[in-house]
Amino acid sequence: MSKDVEAFSRKLEKLKAVQRMEAIIAEIPQDKLLLSTSFGAEDQVITDIAIKINPSIRIFTLDTCRQFQETYDTFHDTIRKYNCSIEVYAPETEDIIALMEKYGPNSMYESIEKRKECCRISKLVPLRKALATCDAWICGIRQEQSVTRFNSNPAEKDTQNNVIKFAPLFDWTKEDVWDYIRTNNVPYNKLHDRNYPSIGCAPCTRAVEPGEDDRAGRWWWERAEQKECGLHKRQDA
Ligand code: SF4
Repeated sequence: MSKDVEAFSRKLEKLKAVQRMEAIIAEIPQDKLLLSTSFGAEDQVITDIAIKINPSIRIFTLDTCRQFQETYDTFHDTIRKYNCSIEVYAPETEDIIALMEKYGPNSMYESIEKRKECCRISKLVPLRKALATCDAWICGIRQEQSVTRFNSNPAEKDTQNNVIKFAPLFDWTKEDVWDYIRTNNVPYNKLHDRNYPSIGCAPCTRAVEPGEDDRAGRWWWERAEQKECGLHKRQDA
């Protein structure tokens, strides 16, 4: 990217989300830009916005092989609705076998170290592989989602992966997301209708109680500031 990332971020801040996406797509060559989806509400919004601008945009997902059936249903509905294909990055079989044989299938509940090791081999290693093919990626994170995401900007350097990370919905509210989904008839994960505002792997996600934080159902046995898998680790954290 020829422009300074901070200056581009300030430019994006002044735009609406659709215009942000147009600016991002205009700035980064098609083969070097990846849109990330885990089929949650925000990801479905950025997929809809991006495909309407460029039907050939590269989209990828990380399949940890431990997701809910409803998430796979949303994956299927999405490729059918938009007639698109989605690149899939998955863990190495030998890493999963080694983890299972050493610690068993439910080791994520035993310690943060074991949980993070499962996230590392299932998400971070595949993410690194995906991002090695691009210069920039687009994700659906919003500032208000949790304490770990409070400082998200529309464009940031992802020095961990040596790429630029875009968050065109960074200042959206949850209501903005659901207004967009309803207005545009966007397919969404039906678990959202059953009190799952944030959806990850099945062993690590539960429904939330009324009044609980949206990410309270993710790794619910850990403290709020620990609840990230490393995909959106901030450089200044
Ligand atoms: S969210 Fe849970 S099951 Fe998924 S990769 Fe992380 S520890 Fe493993």
